[in-house]
Parts: sequence; structure tokens; C-alpha cells
Amino acid sequence: MNKLLLIIALLTLSVLGTASISKATATPLWLFSSQAGFAKAKLPNHESITVCDASGLGVRVGDIIAPWNRIAGWSLFRAQCPGDVTFQKAGATWVQPLPSATEPFSACIIWASTRDTKTMRHEIGHCLGIVDSIYSSMDATYYVNPAVCDNPADPRYSAYKGTMSYCNFNQVWRWFGADDVATLTGAGYR
Ligand SMILES: [Zn+2]
Repeated sequence: MNKLLLIIALLTLSVLGTASISKATATPLWLFSSQAGFAKAKLPNHESITVCDASGLGVRVGDIIAPWNRIAGWSLFRAQCPGDVTFQKAGATWVQPLPSATEPFSACIIWASTRDTKTMRHEIGHCLGIVDSIYSSMDATYYVNPAVCDNPADPRYSAYKGTMSYCNFNQVWRWFGADDVATLTGAGYR
């Protein structure tokens, strides 16, 4: 077990390793930290993040990255092996940004227990440095700097309702809408 942080999958509640909650005041609530994500893909660089399925699960990389690329307006992700983002088979689904969740990413491993495209569209969002928006009743220990999606009185509350929100996992018409566009813009990917 390494010291790296992890993000629990949207559907697969698995707990590994240790995580810490980063609440630096300068950190946008929708990012793990101001440095999180792939600097190579942010402005002014705009170099594609390559994505490789090494899981043997038959992960549909093209379908996963298509809506992210559509709202980014450019090839934010590109299917290529070896990749900056690598899908690896595992018993549970979680995300491992390298070298950490709060530094600029040099790689991102999605440990996958499923090839479900919907779930993986969410997971690859973490490889952009975007946090989960979780229910306030959920244990935040295993998330990094999570936003809260259901309780405006919570200081962690975010009105964000997009691909990374647990509050609307069943409201997929909100996925890749205005909130996700704004998130990509705020993170510097568009
Ligand atoms: Zn997540």
C-alpha cells in the first residue's frame, strides 16, 4: 500500500490506503488542489492526455472520452497506449493520481472492477483533478477535498450538478452540461 490518495468510485464503495482531506483556502472546491490535474493539457499547452486500456476488461476508451472531448472543444483525451491515463483491472474501482492527488499529475491509474462506460466517464474526470460532490451524510475520509451536493448549509456545499456529483448519478442529462463546461474552464482545460 502506498501513501497515494484515492477516490472511491461512484458505484463501488471500496476503501484502500489512507486519504487526507485538503481544505486549503486557495483551493477551488471542485479541484483536489490548485495544482491538481494534467498541466500538459491546461492552457496554454493544450496537449492531449493519452488514455490506454491495459485492464483486459475491454474498457471502451473512445466512448468514455468522447463527451469530455465534446465539451472541452478539442481532443482533451486521446486513445493511445501507453497512456498518461491507464485502466488496470482491480477488485474495486478507484483512481490513483500520480505522484499525488494534489500535485500536477504525471500519470493517473484507474483501477477498474468494471468496464461500465458511465462509471468510467466519472472516474476519468478525477484524472482531470476534479473532486467528487458527495452527500453530506457520506464519510468524507476517503475522498480528497470533496464538495457536498445536497446541503447548502454545509460549508463544503457546491451547487455543481454534473458528472462528478453523487446527487445526480441517475440524472445523466445533467452530465457534460453547463456545470462540467464551467469546471473544465475553471481548471484551465478550455
Ligand atoms: Zn468519484
